[in-house]
Amino acid sequence: MTISLNEFAESVDFRKDESHSALPPPEAIARAEASLPISLPETGLGFDNIKQHLLNDLAPAFNGPSLSSNYYGFITGGVTEAALFADWLVSGYDQNVQAHLPKETVSGSVDSAALRLLRQLLSIDENSFPGGTFTTGATASNILGLALGREFAVAEAGRRRSPPSDCSVAQLGVVPACILADVRKIQILTTLPHSSITKAASVVGLGTDAVICLPLSAEEPWRFNLDALQEKLRNPEQAVSIIAISAGEVNTGRFATSREEMLKIRALADEHGAWIHVDGAFGLQARVLLPTPQLSAIVDGVDSIELADSLTGDAHKLLNVPYDCGFFFTRHLALQQAVFQNGAVPVADSSEIPSAHNLGIENSRRLRALPVYASLLAYGRVWHRNLLERQIELARTIATSILASDSYELLPLNTDLTQVYIILLFRARSTTLNDKLVEKLNASGLLYVSGTRWDGAPATRLAVSTWRVDVERDSARVIAELDKVSKL
Ligand SMILES: *Cc1c(COP(=O)(O)O)cnc(C)c1O
Repeated sequence: MTISLNEFAESVDFRKDESHSALPPPEAIARAEASLPISLPETGLGFDNIKQHLLNDLAPAFNGPSLSSNYYGFITGGVTEAALFADWLVSGYDQNVQAHLPKETVSGSVDSAALRLLRQLLSIDENSFPGGTFTTGATASNILGLALGREFAVAEAGRRRSPPSDCSVAQLGVVPACILADVRKIQILTTLPHSSITKAASVVGLGTDAVICLPLSAEEPWRFNLDALQEKLRNPEQAVSIIAISAGEVNTGRFATSREEMLKIRALADEHGAWIHVDGAFGLQARVLLPTPQLSAIVDGVDSIELADSLTGDAHKLLNVPYDCGFFFTRHLALQQAVFQNGAVPVADSSEIPSAHNLGIENSRRLRALPVYASLLAYGRVWHRNLLERQIELARTIATSILASDSYELLPLNTDLTQVYIILLFRARSTTLNDKLVEKLNASGLLYVSGTRWDGAPATRLAVSTWRVDVERDSARVIAELDKVSKL
């Protein structure tokens, strides 16, 4: 390799300036656009030239989720130094962790070790959740969750018939398996799901119409309503169910369940043969927190989610590894291997570690475990806990200012700061300002927030997700921008 690691590190840190701008200047984007070639050169330009092109033309036009602490769009996460270094090695060594080949490479064992460390970080018991794999992100993990939920719920309906029959969707296909099991509908019962749950419903053949958003309580419009759930599970139309829990909800960061609700949902699922999937893309990270008075509401939101059958998490969000890296855990390893079996004839694994190509969507896959492995070992549990505490503190500091402001209001309309995790949803009280709020806040490029809708109107969403967070500096910047924009 002719580019040194130092050169590489410089290439991504050259904008390490005090402005911490979240967006590149418009001129940089225009210059980069103009530099894009129209046609493939017959004779290559050579690595040196292309290196200059990438570093001088393109890189200045990339936005700054990993470089700026003021990039609050989506939930992007930053990139820790250890993760960046590891990611560089992943590409350099180009390992393919498809089958576990312990005599040829250590990469399969590294994959497994990273999953073990991750389970420990999140207090997920390895014996209860033997099925685990790295994915491209939470969307892919949600697809795995619904694929397994579909397999389980239909098979369970078949088992509960008299006489019982073997109804595997993986083997027979959705339609024949459902006919055999006397199932007319596979429904996904949820509250405020992430868009990827709907996509996953389409991909696994359930259909987007299968996603049913249960009515929410007026006081806490993000919580699972157990009465509504129970009614839907009572099976009026020969339906079987997957219960999809938003932990947390992507616009507000609020958690759909608490310990008490999870216990009841588990009992209902067992009674009705339903599968429970938790989408904890960014919420699972809250399992590192301690139940202090300030944080107990958050801790309660992820308490007992280990009662679920499957769990989705994103490492590229709060774990701050580079894109793309998600993970998936399930209690049902055998079911996972049946659904994702690569080839009609299973090839026995040569060790305790199951091969990844039988656990998820891809066959060939990069060693995306390595950045997770490196980051978890380099920084440890306490660092991850402290980081999340600081991220929550920043969100709450800004929330306090919004609650005290005449110009803005926090959404959902609820003043309980102990419910605030790492996402803030808010709007301007003036409709004119609110319609343009995201645009105005992002105009300077100093910070970046996302737009969404809440209660039928535009709303602004600010997600704290990088390790670069500095509560004092960053809250001052955001509050000053909010103030400035409200006076325009
Ligand atoms: C981000 C997110 C997803 C989708 O994750 P990707 O990593 O973008 O695929 C799914 N669910 C929730 C709750 C999320 O926040």
